[in-house]
Amino acid sequence: MIIKNPTTPLTEIFDPLFEKRQIRFFIKREDLTDEFISGNKFYKLKYNLIEAEKLGFNTLLTFGGAYSNHIHATAAAGKKYGFNTIGIIRGEEQFPLNPTLSSARANGMKIEYIDRKSYRNKYDESLIQTFKEKFGDFYLIPEGGSNHLAIKGCAEIISSITTDFSFICSACGTGGTLAGLILGLDSKSFALGFSVLKGGSFLNQNVRTLLAYYQKERLNNFQINLDYHFGGYAKTSNVLNRFCKAFEEQHNIPIEPIYTGKMFFGIYDLINNNFFPPNSTIVAIHTGGLQGLQGLKERNMI
Ligand SMILES: *Cc1c(COP(=O)(O)O)cnc(C)c1O
Repeated sequence: MIIKNPTTPLTEIFDPLFEKRQIRFFIKREDLTDEFISGNKFYKLKYNLIEAEKLGFNTLLTFGGAYSNHIHATAAAGKKYGFNTIGIIRGEEQFPLNPTLSSARANGMKIEYIDRKSYRNKYDESLIQTFKEKFGDFYLIPEGGSNHLAIKGCAEIISSITTDFSFICSACGTGGTLAGLILGLDSKSFALGFSVLKGGSFLNQNVRTLLAYYQKERLNNFQINLDYHFGGYAKTSNVLNRFCKAFEEQHNIPIEPIYTGKMFFGIYDLINNNFFPPNSTIVAIHTGGLQGLQGLKERNMI
């Protein structure tokens, strides 16, 4: 199987603030990878799909919350590349299905719910065995898609960036994408992650563990900022919602408050506070996630 990387634009963003601080700011539009296999999830899935085919699997099983971008993308990738897909969803079944899960189901994903306690122990051998009895054999992709094959895919984002830069930024959920970017950088510049989780201090270790597969766990050209989670995963606020709307109006680039909005808010705030030295060039990865907007609207969160 050959999966070609899409060509996505690198867009410079202008703002009087950047001029004042002598910063250049670019956005790598990975939200434009594919309408359905969007953002970083494309790169995280790429080598997992290739590996699954190589090992002779025709079914993928993975895990996520009910609004998960990863679940949405895995279902679409399964349909496009010819795999059956099974999504193990945290929590109770809800009817009607939310927009994320109805899209997943429309792409052929079988959806199975497990309670929150079982979800916390989702990789237990006994639970995996019950899934095997129920669904047959499968290639397992971890929650959020983060394994060493995912970071190999995310590393490729770097080589497609056609400008020199001093900082690369990404929102962090598991840290898999940031680990991939660090791997791709090979020490040439600094990677800055923005935790979208409250209590994201474990992310540093996650990133190092993922890098260890490639003997790169000693790299120190990265940092994960923990200050812009806005209350935690899937939380937003009026301030953040207003920021996302204004950003889209001004730059004509849609963002959402669960991942990319938190990162962009953080970058602006850090620029304001002189975190980046003058003459820095910053590239922020737009990791997608826009499918989540529909679910946020439905829940009156934006
Ligand atoms: C999943 C996701 C992330 C987080 O990626 P990790 O590799 O888990 O850190 C960031 N942004 C968006 C839009 C996502 O969907």
